[in-house]
Amino acid sequence: MPLSWHNSWIEYSFFIERETDLMAKAIVDCCSQPGLMHPDLALERILSHVEPILDTEWVELDQGMGRVLADSVSSKIDLPPFDNSAMDGYAYRFDDGLAEKPLTLVGTAFAGHPYQGETPPNSCVRIMTGGQVPAGYDTVQMQENAEANGDQISLLPAKRKGAHVRPLGEEARRGEQIYAAGQRIGAAEMGVLATIGVDKIKVVRRITVAFFSTGDELKPVGSELKPGDIYDSNRYAIKGLLSRSYVDYIDLGVIPDDMDAIRDAFKRASEQADVVITSGGVSVGDADYVKQILDELGQINFWRLAIKPGKPFAFGQIGSALFCGLPGNPVSSMVTYYKLVTPILEKLSCVTPKPILRLPATLACDIRKHPGRVEYQRGIYSYDEQGRLQVITTGAQGSGMLTSMSVSNCFIVLEQDLGNVSAGAQVTIEPYQQVLD
Ligand code: AMP
Ligand code: MG
Repeated sequence: MPLSWHNSWIEYSFFIERETDLMAKAIVDCCSQPGLMHPDLALERILSHVEPILDTEWVELDQGMGRVLADSVSSKIDLPPFDNSAMDGYAYRFDDGLAEKPLTLVGTAFAGHPYQGETPPNSCVRIMTGGQVPAGYDTVQMQENAEANGDQISLLPAKRKGAHVRPLGEEARRGEQIYAAGQRIGAAEMGVLATIGVDKIKVVRRITVAFFSTGDELKPVGSELKPGDIYDSNRYAIKGLLSRSYVDYIDLGVIPDDMDAIRDAFKRASEQADVVITSGGVSVGDADYVKQILDELGQINFWRLAIKPGKPFAFGQIGSALFCGLPGNPVSSMVTYYKLVTPILEKLSCVTPKPILRLPATLACDIRKHPGRVEYQRGIYSYDEQGRLQVITTGAQGSGMLTSMSVSNCFIVLEQDLGNVSAGAQVTIEPYQQVLD
């Protein structure tokens, strides 16, 4: 962590407190929950203090899935590298076909086996999809429009010169930029990179994220629950969220609500990782506790976000690592991860973010909501008999009910100043496959 960043962080903390006050004043006028910051504004502020990682490494294309390009990538070849046929049929000279007389078959051009001979006037070559169109020919007629009589081939006239030919370089030219830095490599990109002859890619190094759960009541699965205990679920959900190829993660387990144990965990985590994520211990009752430790080790800001579920969120710096403190309630921790941590990790990893897919849908049940916070209710979208998108909630929306996440397929996003919404109204949904993949 450069010193300048450290200093600016402290200034930033003061700035945020002042801003939060101003925001609080502004919000008092518009809703009943003063002092809460809109999550979009909070995210903007937080992201302005996340510096993308500059370390890069070369990896074989084989190992590239999910990684983030550190540099732009240009095509090493013309794509396609030669004129080739899009159909099984006959390659010939378009003008020869205008006479509507049979053409003489002089050879074959199968994929991977170009025709090497001459292409005299009024000749043609049997060609298969992907076969190279012999020099001198310009058109392919598909075999369904051809009749062979020995080596005499009658063809229906092609619609135009160049029909069914995929010309050299039509998709990309040698040296043309195909991807900008920041592109995440998915399945299609793996294929494209191979197509353009790229066997090694320069990628941003993986970021390391260390995470742990805090809470005396939390027990790891596999152990027996004593009265008052619950199983630690957040660590598993977070692990699922972190299972992306641009992240290496370190699971530090469950840490009890003990000052020394938490201090030690923070130290270990921040020494090993670029980002430390915790769950629990950031709500009002616990905040001072974690704050005390983090005041010793770094800087931290507790945010009270106008978001439901997930009001408390902590963001700061421990040593050289960024710190994200998620609320303990399982749904809150997933929602704040989705809304705030994903963009932080993406910016750190130089990922160019995809726009979040938001769709209008007709609400097929009533929704209860108080104005004051943006709500991410768990929804199930489907299509009605007319093929229109509709959505219902999963029912009870308790922030501890994690099953609501797993039976849902989208968030129903209800803006801050909205109150109850009745069936039949248009609402906005964010389908998961677009946002949590
Ligand atoms: P906290 O944020 O620590 O005050 O916790 C809020 C609620 O979330 C409490 O009911 C905790 O028991 C629960 N909780 C905290 N951490 C976890 C966790 N890792 N897994 C499941 N529930 C949790
Ligand atoms: Mg706790």
